[in-house]
Amino acid sequence: MSAEADQTSSVGEIVTRGSLTVDLSRDSGSDKHTFCIEADEVQRLLSSSGQSEDELLCGLIQQASSLARPPISSFLVGAVALGVSGRIFFGVNLEFARLPLYNSVHAEQFLVVNALHHGERELRKLAVSEAPCGHCRQFYSELSCADSIRISFGKGQKLSSYTLAELLPQRFGPGDLLDISNTPLLLQPQQNSLQLTEEAHDRVEARAGDATFQEAFRQAAAQARASYAPYSQCPAGLAVITAKQDVYAGPYIESAAFNPSLSPLQAAIIVGVIDSMPCYTHVNEVVLVELEGGAVQHELTARVVLAQIAPEATLTVLPALSPKKKPPHHEMP
Ligand SMILES: [Zn+2]
Repeated sequence: MSAEADQTSSVGEIVTRGSLTVDLSRDSGSDKHTFCIEADEVQRLLSSSGQSEDELLCGLIQQASSLARPPISSFLVGAVALGVSGRIFFGVNLEFARLPLYNSVHAEQFLVVNALHHGERELRKLAVSEAPCGHCRQFYSELSCADSIRISFGKGQKLSSYTLAELLPQRFGPGDLLDISNTPLLLQPQQNSLQLTEEAHDRVEARAGDATFQEAFRQAAAQARASYAPYSQCPAGLAVITAKQDVYAGPYIESAAFNPSLSPLQAAIIVGVIDSMPCYTHVNEVVLVELEGGAVQHELTARVVLAQIAPEATLTVLPALSPKKKPPHHEMP
């Protein structure tokens, strides 16, 4: 079946692309934007415009795209999703100059971190400015709502709506590697049990008087506990501290296909963009909580990325132990 035939066959409703503009400035006159529209505001927009949910999402795509940061391609991608809570979330693509392309964040991935950041447990509908790439179709296979979410995109004024099974049939997913009847999937609460090593504990204690560091440690540890790492069992969380002492933190998120995974540094940067971090070079320090001796570790990659995007930043690594895994240094030779 051709792509054109797809547009008019069994793929569901066709939605007309609108051009709604909503004032998303947090403060009038500022250049700060919010990437989440609260449920009551969504209801107000629906009633005042007379639009359907799909029309509202499609109408917001262009506004989302305008927030993208792609210095390599200059190709702006926007994603807009409606969550089960009634809130709308934005996602945009991020690229990092002077780094390999695989460090880029796709708009659909950004959106999932945004939903996690706001505690959303399920996405009902997603509208994207471009056809989702294979990488993102794979990444969305991790969602607990992968079988129910509808995804809209298309050229011109008409968008078509699809299920993920239509976009990525016979896909490799969590069920191929995990007992999914017993594993919380992406967007469902994760409860990784972690304890700091004594070395890490001493490092935190040594900075007891540094309130910003303590907050960054608390957030990085919380993100490590919430990390989605069912394949490696190596949860991790990372917090960045800016020159203004603001803290932004994100979790490590895995994919069954491994490569679409998001590093905790990427997730923390996404949260920084959502919460108006002015520029990556404003990052002063980065705090990483990850498993000591784990099969997956982020320290070295984080150092390479930081050397380009925030060369002045220092990296503090706080190794942790998981009761699920016997750490290598406890093993007999
Ligand atoms: Zn993509």
